[in-house]
Amino acid sequence: MKLVHYGRTAKMGLFSTTPFKNENQAFIFSPAPEFVIFMIKLQLMKPEENIALAPFTSFGVESTARYYSTFRDEAELEELLFWGARYPLLILGGGSNLLLTRDVDGLVLKNEIRGITELHEDNDYVYIRAGAGENWHQFVLYCLSRNWAGLENLSLIPGNAGASPMQNIGAYGVELEELFWDLEAWHIREQKKVTFTKSDCGFGYRDSVFKGKFKGQFVILNVTYRLRKKPRYTTSYGAIEKELEKMGVKELSIKAISDAVISIRSSKLPDPRVIGNAGSFFKNPSVSAEKHALLQKQFPDLVAYPNVDGTFKLAAGWMIEQSGPAPGISWKGYRKGDAGCHERQALVLVNYGRALGSEIFQLSEDILQSVHQKFGVELEREVNII
Ligand SMILES: Cc1cc2nc3c(=O)[nH]c(=O)nc-3n(C[C@H](O)[C@H](O)[C@H](O)COP(=O)(O)OP(=O)(O)OC[C@H]3O[C@@H](n4cnc5c(N)ncnc54)[C@H](O)[C@@H]3O)c2cc1C
Repeated sequence: MKLVHYGRTAKMGLFSTTPFKNENQAFIFSPAPEFVIFMIKLQLMKPEENIALAPFTSFGVESTARYYSTFRDEAELEELLFWGARYPLLILGGGSNLLLTRDVDGLVLKNEIRGITELHEDNDYVYIRAGAGENWHQFVLYCLSRNWAGLENLSLIPGNAGASPMQNIGAYGVELEELFWDLEAWHIREQKKVTFTKSDCGFGYRDSVFKGKFKGQFVILNVTYRLRKKPRYTTSYGAIEKELEKMGVKELSIKAISDAVISIRSSKLPDPRVIGNAGSFFKNPSVSAEKHALLQKQFPDLVAYPNVDGTFKLAAGWMIEQSGPAPGISWKGYRKGDAGCHERQALVLVNYGRALGSEIFQLSEDILQSVHQKFGVELEREVNII
């Protein structure tokens, strides 16, 4: 068949295509070379099927992904999204804030975009970009080793950099938003990269637009943090000062604060490698000053902290401890099958072995109801439920 090149190569979607006409003057479009390469790559990269997800989440509950793959850069992500466009999608980071209550009948993609880059600096700050798949604690240690200050109070939080703005992670008086500069994310539907500045992210307490109005719409590719050249220490929160004293620290440094935080966290929080958990299961709820006064009258030991806007943040852990499945029984240390509440931290729900995600979820429902019954306060889950 004789083909005559006809017209210019046109860009169509991801690819270009070259029009030809055959002897009958009918149009034939030849696939562009990049399309052929793309199709071969798609065949080679086809995600694995029926993959057990328990090893990929800190709860360690059983769940199977119909399709699973990792991606190491934007191009791999784009190709995988193209491949799996008709399937429901779940992006995995370190899996430390996820409860899988069922199998995932779709595509699970684990973000493994790595790399730490010093973008630029000014008199006071350095701007550091981390790939979304960088392990959070390793990233914190990297920054500490270069004397870039700000992240020390956030030491030893499990998970990856990519989820840090999504969750607006926080600990010991510091929240991520204070150190966040911007991030790049892949818009799944529009197939393009978008930059989010701080004001675009709608940060709140363990919250951002990525958990709210943009839920499931973006894949975070990298995050840029603005870290201080001269440290500003935050030691008044929790037991940091006591720990520094115990450690015999004479001169304060970001490394000393990080060590203190690591020591406190290691003694207080259950290690997910030993007992499956996702840290605090619920957020600390805020109530109006009037509601706080009423509760305090009724429960003189109520643990609460004033917010700057005049409302009060209630300690969810304390309320859970004071409630229980039956009169005289506390949730703290409670266990039903292999699902339970940790014996030292009522706020932390745990998988003692072979608990199902649905059993842990049901326990969280029972806790929500009993706290509501006793205090008239609605708890909200911090953990992402699938
Ligand atoms: C023992 C323990 C202690 C903890 N202590 C704290 C604490 O002190 N403070 C605190 O804030 N948190 C704490 N956490 C919770 C958890 O560590 C953080 O929320 C962390 O940021 C989760 O990161 P991850 O990579 O594991 O996210 P995942 O669990 O993998 O994902 C969480 C959510 O983000 C989505 N997601 C992940 N990566 C991306 C991406 N690149 N793009 C788009 N969506 C994405 C997922 O789909 C999911 O919905 C603790 C958890 C544990 C187990």
